[in-house]
Amino acid sequence: MNFTTRFAPSPTGPLHLGHAYSALLAYDMAAAAGGQFLLRIEDIDQSRARKQWEEQIYEDLTWLGLTWPQPVMRQSDRLPRYRAALDQLTAMGLTYPCRCNRADIEAAAGAPQEGVPQFGPDGRIYPGTCRPRAMHEAGSHDVIRLNMQKALQAAELRPFTETGPAHEGPHAPDPDQLISAVGDIILVRRNMGSSYHLSVVVDDADQGITHAVRGEDLFEATQIHVLLQSLLGLPTPVYHHHRLIRDEAGKRLAKRDDARAIAKYRAEGASPQDIRGIVGLPSSSV
Ligand code: GLU
Repeated sequence: MNFTTRFAPSPTGPLHLGHAYSALLAYDMAAAAGGQFLLRIEDIDQSRARKQWEEQIYEDLTWLGLTWPQPVMRQSDRLPRYRAALDQLTAMGLTYPCRCNRADIEAAAGAPQEGVPQFGPDGRIYPGTCRPRAMHEAGSHDVIRLNMQKALQAAELRPFTETGPAHEGPHAPDPDQLISAVGDIILVRRNMGSSYHLSVVVDDADQGITHAVRGEDLFEATQIHVLLQSLLGLPTPVYHHHRLIRDEAGKRLAKRDDARAIAKYRAEGASPQDIRGIVGLPSSSV
């Protein structure tokens, strides 16, 4: 198995030090293994994605010294592929349309109960109001959800390997936790034709990713991805969730943290080796 990894930014703002760390780490890991580093533009949210930010991604990564094979995979080119994956899950009877808005979900969730989680890696845990609805009832404003209970019955849950520092070792998705702390995740968001979870598993498989290197904030979502891989008959890569780069106050960097944008460091005369130093990576030999 040839080591293949990727960096998968969303073009919704400037890349900052956290992105630089993620991209450089993945690149270094691929280089050390004699493998491949791929780029993927995660732009299914067309209301937020901007061509200008995509161009800036190419420019910043090139400046950092990274190279990648062409053509770059762009999610906005792949809607038919996501549709096919959704159809596969629908044919298994695992999907339903949901018309609840945020206020409906809040109201149906009721008063918080002690010890019962309200939020999972996908936001508020869906109370199941639309679960009895059938796919042929789907309206154009509906989202499509996965019936988690049925999905767990249909899936042969597989373990996955994590090599990142915080959770290193073998892991097995926990069905009870997937029901109580994750719930009926969204497979297709309103006006998007897909969702992060559905796209990421299909894309990782289609790009032949053997090692998914990404931020620690996505560790909890990994069991969702492993479940979807098992339902769709896709391979499960090795996962490596890395530490997050934080600001002086200990807060993780966000897209709006323009102060730490790579472009700003460049404009101020920093070198790519300086960026490596700031994020705690060894300097590169190239
Ligand atoms: N597009 C995601 C992000 O910018 C990365 C997803 C992934 O690496 O799985 O956080």
